[in-house]
Amino acid sequence: MRKRLFFLIILALIMMFIQGCSYGRNQTGLGYILKEAAKLRSYHTYYVKEYVKEPEVAGAGETRQDDSSNRNSNDSIPGQKKKVYLTFDDGPDSLITPLILDILDGYGAKATFFVVGTNVEKNPEILRDIVKRGHAVGNHTYNHRYSDVYSGGDGFLRSIRLNDELIFQTIGQRTRVVRDPGGEVRKSESLKRLLAHNGYQLIDWNVDSHDSRVPSPSAPEIIENIRRQIMQEHLWPGVIILMHDGPGHMNTVRALPTVLDMLVNQGFQFEVLK
Ligand SMILES: [Zn+2]
Repeated sequence: MRKRLFFLIILALIMMFIQGCSYGRNQTGLGYILKEAAKLRSYHTYYVKEYVKEPEVAGAGETRQDDSSNRNSNDSIPGQKKKVYLTFDDGPDSLITPLILDILDGYGAKATFFVVGTNVEKNPEILRDIVKRGHAVGNHTYNHRYSDVYSGGDGFLRSIRLNDELIFQTIGQRTRVVRDPGGEVRKSESLKRLLAHNGYQLIDWNVDSHDSRVPSPSAPEIIENIRRQIMQEHLWPGVIILMHDGPGHMNTVRALPTVLDMLVNQGFQFEVLK
């Protein structure tokens, strides 16, 4: 009896020790990243189950295949390829961008990063890493400041050229694709003409993750925003998804594995914009 009591006390002490160890972990650095990675895995497991089901939109007049092992609906419309362009604006960021790059690598998926010059100055090595891992780079102005970019005159073009030069100095290659902050250029015919005249190609989006809204949507909300929009069949030849890898976009990181699973299961091919 005494022996048993002694054993129970030892067991309780061991449990208290283990709990004490994990309680003491701090919230920054490696500990923080490991915690975030664990959360990410649990989000992923849950939402894959929740959202990645049979494709909801089948091709017109087509019957679904009974073979559940083949969930790829790429051939639901004969001859049509389903292409997706993942785009990330506002980076590179020292925490968010590397996490996104690792997740993309896990899926062999390529994306286009529309970078802001002031963030390139802060994180040039991350921009080089983006290129090294086979992704494309786009121009998202030098400082993303509306008062500079949309103040009239040639402010927009100046900001684009400045960033163009910075990107070239950092990675040794130029990019012609441009994304305008807030999508404002699409409202201005003269700005569109100015860009085209100077050899730049404006890239819009047709699926918005809404991950830059304030307050920030949760990871499940981001997933749902994308899921709903990619079901529109007329977009399938070229789905362009707007997401952000600027500072603070942890919910985009959390949502990304499930978004990628959805896209793979729906039969999309990943392409980049150049
Ligand atoms: Zn932006």
